[in-house]
Amino acid sequence: MSRPIRVRFAPSPTGPLHIGGVRTALFNYLFAKKHGGVFYLRVEDTDQNRFVPGAEAYILEALEWLGIAPDETVGKNEKFGPYRQSERKHLYKEYADQLIQSGWAYYAFDSAEDLDQLRKNEEEQGKTFIYNHGNREQLDNSLTNSAEKTAQRIANGEEYVIRFKTPVNEILHLNDMIRGEVKFDTNLLDDKVLFKGDGMPTYHLANIVDDHLMETSHVIRGEEWLPSMPLHVLLYRAFNWEAPEFAHLPLILKPVGNGKLSKRDGDKLGFPVFPLEWKDPSSGEISSGYREKGFLPEAVINFLALLGWSSGTDQELFTLDELVNSFDLGRVHKAGAKFDPEKNKWFNHQYFQRADDTKLAHQLSHVLVEKGINKPIEFVTEVVRLVKERATFASELWDLSEFFFLAPTSYDEKAAKNWKPETAELMEKLIGILENTLDFSTENVENTVKTWMTENEIGMGKIMQPLRLSLVGSLKGPHLFDIISMIGKEETITRIRKAIASLK
Ligand code: GLU
Repeated sequence: MSRPIRVRFAPSPTGPLHIGGVRTALFNYLFAKKHGGVFYLRVEDTDQNRFVPGAEAYILEALEWLGIAPDETVGKNEKFGPYRQSERKHLYKEYADQLIQSGWAYYAFDSAEDLDQLRKNEEEQGKTFIYNHGNREQLDNSLTNSAEKTAQRIANGEEYVIRFKTPVNEILHLNDMIRGEVKFDTNLLDDKVLFKGDGMPTYHLANIVDDHLMETSHVIRGEEWLPSMPLHVLLYRAFNWEAPEFAHLPLILKPVGNGKLSKRDGDKLGFPVFPLEWKDPSSGEISSGYREKGFLPEAVINFLALLGWSSGTDQELFTLDELVNSFDLGRVHKAGAKFDPEKNKWFNHQYFQRADDTKLAHQLSHVLVEKGINKPIEFVTEVVRLVKERATFASELWDLSEFFFLAPTSYDEKAAKNWKPETAELMEKLIGILENTLDFSTENVENTVKTWMTENEIGMGKIMQPLRLSLVGSLKGPHLFDIISMIGKEETITRIRKAIASLK
């Protein structure tokens, strides 16, 4: 029977959300929306030792910024709440007990010191210690203690954990929606702790109980969780619950070399691995974020979507809606996906070109205000329109447009060398032409100046380069007559005069 689609993103708030985690959230979101289902976020904060203040708020803010906020989560449509595992603590013990009763789990009293010693002994012989069917009948647990003794020890307040009793001699043939059939030999699994001495469930128990109670239909998560899949499937069997479908997403790989993308790669090559800037509450260390670097959320969504998924066409640019329409878990690759910071910038450049000019103008206006420049927003918007094709980030707008607002204070040395002895005279003549020009629209000034040049057989280079140098201070910038039209007659002439005086 097919059930309603409900998928989840289940981060542990142990720090800022890594970009790989964002990709997991995105694929869950896309899958949910594509199938008219629900995307919810559950906070897996049962490990109190690893709890980091601010991390939960950070995760939600990041998804909000990217436009992929969950439909249900802490404080939002809490139909299956609470959505924080720490607030569901009271729930899990009962399920652990259920497994004890049905013989799927057992109490274990082995102290940390005892287990450490066993581990050491095995290591000395070049082996690894696994707590499982091979030795559980010799260790200190409810399988080797009588029922009375076990009850007594628990009543005495002795510390214990609850372990899963993994079935023996079984090859599990499991289905992963991305990988197809995956096989696991139960004899190689360890009897994982489900419930700890501190009264808290471990990730495995809490995750399965909640996925069941919250009616999760599909578990879409990173490849690093694939080894947990057999235990999870066995837990569903032990509880007699219908298991969700599983899909394990490919790793995100370093831009160069092999291995998983890490924060250190980002530090080394100068790109963020987090969606938003993060300040570590204990060390104060700041990690850069895509948002603060000036990336547009659409660009981040787009490059993340293509990390491990392809539409099967040549299309590279996808809006979120288009992604929802084309997304298909069947087209997610098994192989890891290489992170490409340069390509990410290319995506930002594409979306930057599509960004609303007025919105960008407001951003540029902030810079102008800081510099004490006051210009109407219409003017700033026009400036943005003229220079944006050269920009990838809003932060580049000022450098690309400074000359629209301020006269140059110096001149590019190399370009200034081309200021010939006769240039001043030609520029004086040009001033005369400009003074007599009434209509200062781009087209009209361009026509007037070019006609004058043609009629007097003055070569283009003789005028255009010195003119640009006078107005901009270098040979860069957009169409020269656009600049002239924007700054106006008076300012144009003033700048040419200044250049004549300075560049003798
Ligand atoms: N809390 C786990 C994590 O931090 C969730 C893994 C899963 O999706 O099952 O990624």
